[in-house]
Amino acid sequence: MENAATKLEQVRENIARAARIAGRKAADITLIAVSKTHPPEAIEPLLIAGQRIFGENRVQEAQAKWPQLRERHPAAQVHLVGQLQSNKADDAVALFDFIHSLDRPSLVAALGKAMDKAGKRVPCFIQVDIGEEEQKGGCAIGDLPALVEQARAADIPVAGLMCVPPAGIEPTPFFALLDKLARDHGLDGRSMGMSSDYEIAVQLGATHVRVGSALFGNRH
Ligand SMILES: *Cc1c(COP(=O)(O)O)cnc(C)c1O
Repeated sequence: MENAATKLEQVRENIARAARIAGRKAADITLIAVSKTHPPEAIEPLLIAGQRIFGENRVQEAQAKWPQLRERHPAAQVHLVGQLQSNKADDAVALFDFIHSLDRPSLVAALGKAMDKAGKRVPCFIQVDIGEEEQKGGCAIGDLPALVEQARAADIPVAGLMCVPPAGIEPTPFFALLDKLARDHGLDGRSMGMSSDYEIAVQLGATHVRVGSALFGNRH
C-alpha cells in the first residue's frame, strides 16, 4: 500500500513538473491509472491513496472488477481505453464514464443508439491512427473531419482526441500532430501519453494521460 501511494505521488510530481515547464497548470491534466490486468487488491491501495480515475481496456474485465470496487469507492470513475466492438456498446455505456476509442462510423452508430436507449450520454474521445499504422485502432487522419461530424450528429459528446503513437520511436511529432488536429476541430481534450512518455505528452498539451505500469508495475 505504501508502495502504491509512493508511485502515485511520484507520477503526480512528474506531471506537475512537466506542466510547470510548459507553463500549464497541473490541475488541467487528468491522470488515468490504467489498471487493466491488475486485480482489485492491486487497485484498492491507489483508491485509498486518493486516485479516482482508472482505465480499463476490456469491457468484460471491467464488468468483473469495478461494480464491487465502486460500491466501496463511489467517487471512482472508469474510462475505457481499449478498442470497443459495436456489439458491446450497451455494456460500455452502462459501465464507463468516458470512452477513449471511438474510431469508426459503425461504432458511432452503435454508441449513439446505446446512449439513447440508456438515457445517458458518455463523453468520447475520438481515437486517431496518428502514425498511420495498418494494424492499429484509430481512424485515419483523413477520415477525422467526417467522424467528428457523425459523432456530433449522433449527439455523442466529443471530449477530444486520443492517440497511441507508434512504438519505439520518438513520440513528440505525433503528440504535436494530435494537439494540432484537436485545435483544428475546436476540441479541448487530448488523451495522450503513457508510462514511457507522459511527461513529454504533458509538455505538448495532453489533458488526459493514461499511465499503467509506472503505477502498477509490469502487467502479468
Ligand atoms: C495499456 C494502455 C496504457 C497504459 O500503458 P503503460 O505503458 O502501462 O502506461 C495506455 N493507453 C492504452 C490505450 C493502453 O492500452
